Amino acid sequence: MITEHNMNQLAWDKMDNLLPAIVQDNRSGKVLMQGYMSPEALQTTLSSGKVTFFSRSKERLWQKGETSGNTLELVSVSADCDNDALLVLARPNGPTCHTGAESCWFNGDVTDFTFLADLESVLSSRKGADAESSYTARLYSKGIKRIAQKVGEEGVEAALAATVQDKEELLNESADLLYHLTVLLQASDLSLQQVIDVLRERHKG
Ligand code: AMP
Ligand code: ZN
Ligand code: ZN
Ligand code: ZN
Repeated sequence: MITEHNMNQLAWDKMDNLLPAIVQDNRSGKVLMQGYMSPEALQTTLSSGKVTFFSRSKERLWQKGETSGNTLELVSVSADCDNDALLVLARPNGPTCHTGAESCWFNGDVTDFTFLADLESVLSSRKGADAESSYTARLYSKGIKRIAQKVGEEGVEAALAATVQDKEELLNESADLLYHLTVLLQASDLSLQQVIDVLRERHKG
């Protein structure tokens, strides 16, 4: 991890004294944007907690979001193996690309498990909502037993679809199962990340 105390160890470019900095969403892992940092930009990023670049076109420090409000809240900065590129983990406040897109890359070919994280946060936000306002809110209001029963049903439906080799049905029932399982975890104040942590721990052994 890079701090104000070890940033002098970085291999700042001899010509322009800059380093490329790639920004990644701390929660989803999505690559958001790339810019350049000068020592002053890095220092400002670390002290302010807002990701700040050196803009080569503006020829000055540029805090991402300074006009749009779409700032990047710093989580951490790390250097690559030979200290000539920075990886910045951040939490975006709004879309990062000036086109209004979430990311400057469309990340189209990337396996998109991050959608589950987005879905989970939507499902989490429905917890206190009026039962009439959405299917998810209604599920929460019915209580954990009913949600657990739905998970059981969807699991059986997915299993049956697989046994008759109906792939389309298996996809649909798997989607139902993942959705209801995510709601069940949320209703139990648990997250998909905690499930992943369990899987990861087992994988080590
Ligand atoms: P902002 O920093 O979001 O207030 O945007 C100010 C200006 O910075 C925009 O008009 C763009 O010229 C530029 N800009 C904003 N976001 C990006 C980005 N992700 N990559 C490159 N340039 C950007
Ligand atoms: Zn390198
Ligand atoms: Zn962009
Ligand atoms: Zn189903």
